[in-house]
This record gives sequence, C-alpha cells and structure tokens, in this order.
Amino acid sequence: MTRVFSGIQPSGELHIGNYLGAVKNWVALQGQHESFFCIVNYHAITVAYLPDDLRRRTRDMAISLLASGLDEAKCTLFVQSDVPEHTELQWIFNTVTPLGELERQVQFKDKAGKQEQVMAGLLNYPVLQAADILLYLADTVPVGEDQVQHLELSRVVARNWNARFSPDAPYFPEPQPKLTPTRRIVGLDGQAKMSKSLGNTIGLLETPDEMWNKLRPAITDPARQRKTDPGTPENCKTVFELHKAFSSAETVKEVDENCRGAKWGCIDCKKVLHANMVAELTPIRTRAEALQANPKQVDALLAEGGRKARAVAQETIRTVKDKMGLDA
Ligand code: SF4
Repeated sequence: MTRVFSGIQPSGELHIGNYLGAVKNWVALQGQHESFFCIVNYHAITVAYLPDDLRRRTRDMAISLLASGLDEAKCTLFVQSDVPEHTELQWIFNTVTPLGELERQVQFKDKAGKQEQVMAGLLNYPVLQAADILLYLADTVPVGEDQVQHLELSRVVARNWNARFSPDAPYFPEPQPKLTPTRRIVGLDGQAKMSKSLGNTIGLLETPDEMWNKLRPAITDPARQRKTDPGTPENCKTVFELHKAFSSAETVKEVDENCRGAKWGCIDCKKVLHANMVAELTPIRTRAEALQANPKQVDALLAEGGRKARAVAQETIRTVKDKMGLDA
C-alpha cells in the first residue's frame, strides 16, 4: 500500500489558498492510502518567533485541519515536535548529505538573501524534510510545484544512505511527488500567490460577511470597466479560478458565457461565487467552532496522533541504528 506523508507549517488558521492547494487533497487521500499529516513546528523556528504565538498557531492549524475533514480514524495527524525521532534522523541524514546539494536549493538562496544573519537551520531545512518523509518510509508526497526540488533532495539522501548502509536491499524508498490537482490560487489583489504575509487571502473560517467584504473588491478582468464590456475569464485569475474550485461545472460554463457576452456584471458573478463558497465552507466553520470550544479534545487528538506516529518512527530508527552500528 502506498504510504503518504505531507507537512504543513503552523501558520494558524488556514486560508482558502492552503485549503484548495493542499488540504482538500489530503482529505481525499486519507481514505485511499495510509497517510501521515504533520504540523511541522520544527520548520517554523528557523526565523524569529514568539513561543506563545507558535503554540497558538499550532493549535489553530490543527483545528483548521480537523474542521476541513482530516479524520483521526483515517489518517495520523500529529505535531512534529511530539516525535523526537524527526531530529534524530535528521542528524543521521546530515552525515550523508553533500553540502553543495543544500547550497543549490532555490528556496535557501531566496530566503537567505532576505536575512541579515543566516542560521544553519535554514540551510539544513531540506534535510529535516527528508527525515520527516523517510521516517515513515513514505513513498508518496503530495506537493506543490515549488516543493519538487526539496523532494529531489530527499531522494538523494535516501539513495546515499541506502548505498552506504543497505546496499543489497534498499531500506528507504525514494519518495515520489504527487502534484496537487488543484491549481494555485492567486491572491485577491491579483498577485501570483495567495499568502497571509501579502494580506490577500480569505480565511477558511471567516464568516459569510467577512468573506464578501474581501471578495467584493477583488481584482477582475481589467477590460470589464462597465457591465456592457465583454470580458475574458482567463484574465480574471482570482474570481474565475475560485469559481472552478467552488462552483459546479455547469456554473463555471455559465460564468464563462455571461462574462464573454457581458450578460452580467462582476458583482453578480461574485455573488454566485460567494454563495457557493459559503455553502462549502459553513460546515467547516461550524466544526471549527465546536473544536475551538473544546481545546482539550484537540490536544487529545494530537497526542494520540503523536503516539501513533512515534510507534512507526521508533521502528524506523531501530532499524537505522542497527544497520549503522549505533545500537551497541
Ligand atoms: Fe471575472 Fe466574473 Fe467579472 Fe468575468 S464576470 S471578469 S469572470 S468577475
């Protein structure tokens, strides 16, 4: 059976870009494969942060994930720091990862260029990612396109370790990417990425009124200055893409026709989208409110997920130490 691993940063409440770009896909995968989903808080500490804030963001992320439909009976949802074997395996993998491979990583170069002082953790971040995945012997990783290079590094690490310590029968699989089917959701302001730091998102748990207040002024096709101007849905990346994600195929066809034929205005179009978003997201918000009212239940679910994950992780570490002569 395929084993799936994926991680998400503890960034607090999910926004609809994260939901459509990753989490909705996880919910679909959890019933089909043995799945491990991890809130990767060790990855969140390579930049300055406040401990209480990280704690809150971790719990909020767990609530968003559970409310979105991750089900503890169908997957293992846990927090990375509850399973210390992640960092143990990372150290081991540091010893089989060429420095040049890490320095070549595009994300490292991007992030390092923006920081005054670069910490070693930022450079070694992809090694921890390799450990996250391989600790569970996962062979499939649902990723966005920007993560494919990191996954290549996980394969290099697996290959190098296997060549040294398990040459006859490779112990670690070389994990393959499973590209997320949902397209990347652009920001409400038309920027290429929907991101909290850019302030161009709609939160997954926002009320219908809050959603409308953000959707109403969202950028559309600039050619549609007046209601009578015909438009091109492909040039309306935010609203049309969101229709494709939240509306039925029939509605998307109608949107296309009404836009090209100037049969309605952008506000009419956005009202239909808003209604469909509210229909899909209201049950998620209701579940989240129930979880927010019962934080002990969330903590208990995460603790149980951590126990399940740790049992698998300890088994891997036992084998790794045995093969490396570290079990004396
Ligand atoms: Fe975008 Fe809809 Fe306006 Fe066309 S009618 S430009 S798809 S908001």
